[in-house]
Amino acid sequence: MNILFMGPPGAGKGTQAERIVDTFGVPHISTGDAFRLAMKQGTPLGVKAKEFVDQGLLVPDEVTNGIVRDRLAEPDCSKGFLLDGFPRTLAQAEALDEMLADMGRKIDHVINLKVDRSFLLARLTGRRICKSCGSTYHVMFNPPKQDGVCDKCGGELYQRSDDTEEKVGTRLDEYSSKTAPLLAYYGDKGLLREVDGEKDIDAVTAEIGSLLRG
Ligand SMILES: [Zn+2]
Repeated sequence: MNILFMGPPGAGKGTQAERIVDTFGVPHISTGDAFRLAMKQGTPLGVKAKEFVDQGLLVPDEVTNGIVRDRLAEPDCSKGFLLDGFPRTLAQAEALDEMLADMGRKIDHVINLKVDRSFLLARLTGRRICKSCGSTYHVMFNPPKQDGVCDKCGGELYQRSDDTEEKVGTRLDEYSSKTAPLLAYYGDKGLLREVDGEKDIDAVTAEIGSLLRG
C-alpha cells in the first residue's frame, strides 16, 4: 500500500503517521530523514544536496526527486510506504508519478488531515517553554499549575518567536497556497481522502485506518 500523507503544520500528522505505519507495516518515509540519510551515507545525490544546504540554497527538484526515488527503491519499501513531506509542488507530484510508474507502482491513497485555521492557530500559538529547564507546556492542552511559571523548577515560561500568531499565520497561509494545487491534482485522480483532524487522536487514527482498508 503506497500512501501519501498531507496536512498543515499542527494537524498531528507525525503522530498519525507513526500509528499508521505500525498498523500497516510499511515504512514511514519523511523527506527530511531521506535527506539526512543520503547526506550521511555520502551517496552522489546526498553529496550534491549537501552542497546546496551548506550554502543555504534551496535543493533543486532533480536532486530532491532523485533522493526520494533512491529511498523508495530500498527493499523495505517493497510492500509499500507512507510518504510524508513530499511532494510539495505540482512538478514534484508529476515526478513522483513518473518514478513510481517506472517501478510499476502507483499511489493508492492520499490522506489529507483537515483542520480549521482557528484550531491550528490555537494549537500552535499556545506552546510555552521554561527558560530554565526547557520543559514545554501548552496553555490549553497542558497548562502549568500557575500561569507563566514552570511546575518543575519554578522558572519563567516564554513563547518562542516562531510561535506568535503572526508567524504561525504566515506559515499556515504559505502551506495552504502551496498545497491547494496538489489537493486538486490528487482530487482529480480520485485519490484524495479527507480526514477530520480535529477529532481526538484515536478517532482520527480509526478513520484513517478504515479509509485505507476500504
Ligand atoms: Zn522549568
